[in-house]
Amino acid sequence: MTANKRPYLTVPRLAAVPGLVHGFGDGRWTEAGFLAFAEALRMTPVVMRQLHSDVIHRLDEAPAEKLAGDALMTDVPGLLLVIRTADCLPVLLVDEANRAVAAVHCGWRGTDKRILEKAVRAMGEAYGSKPGEMLAALGPCVGPACYEVGPEVRGAFLEAGFPEAVFAPRALVPGAGAPFSGRKYLLDLRSANAWLLSGLGFGEDRITNAGPVCTHCEPRFLSYRRDPHDPRRMYNFIGLV
Ligand SMILES: [Zn+2]
Repeated sequence: MTANKRPYLTVPRLAAVPGLVHGFGDGRWTEAGFLAFAEALRMTPVVMRQLHSDVIHRLDEAPAEKLAGDALMTDVPGLLLVIRTADCLPVLLVDEANRAVAAVHCGWRGTDKRILEKAVRAMGEAYGSKPGEMLAALGPCVGPACYEVGPEVRGAFLEAGFPEAVFAPRALVPGAGAPFSGRKYLLDLRSANAWLLSGLGFGEDRITNAGPVCTHCEPRFLSYRRDPHDPRRMYNFIGLV
């Protein structure tokens, strides 16, 4: 992960791909700032109304109206696919061989619906992408130490086939020593989504991670859990130039 003065992070493995732009925005980037960035690149930003769904859109051109959904994919240069987050996990996918990209919004609901797995499969159908040859970059998100969920969330994940291991052990609770209710669990969104990718055939060397940053702990990022009334979101983007 490379941090610099720009209001977004990049990962070296994706930065090395010719003709690709990508980044994970931090809290300094306003909507106007992001749109000016897209304009300077001469690219068309595509921002969805996100639903915490498993709805995936294939773009062959800029959409005429605002789309609702949680993943975008394209093989068309000039489109800047955007996922807005504050604690949820943004995932960027690249198929170098077929020149196709995707951006996926992975909160707990979308993760439970396996949206990332569905997006990889959709790229396979649309572009012939093969999981073993693709790259995935997992952006900043709330870390497991700060992501307490109730038993209903854990139950939904186990029912969806996720392993117990995506729930972090109690030792990660900040201020360990406090009584543990036994009714709350710590969800590791990164692990859950990395597990989906592994199951599809992504090698470990093809999954890059912005971790161990935690949006909740680090003030440079926006966090819904820290500031539930802050309407701002971070801009995560990928596109072919
Ligand atoms: Zn944290």
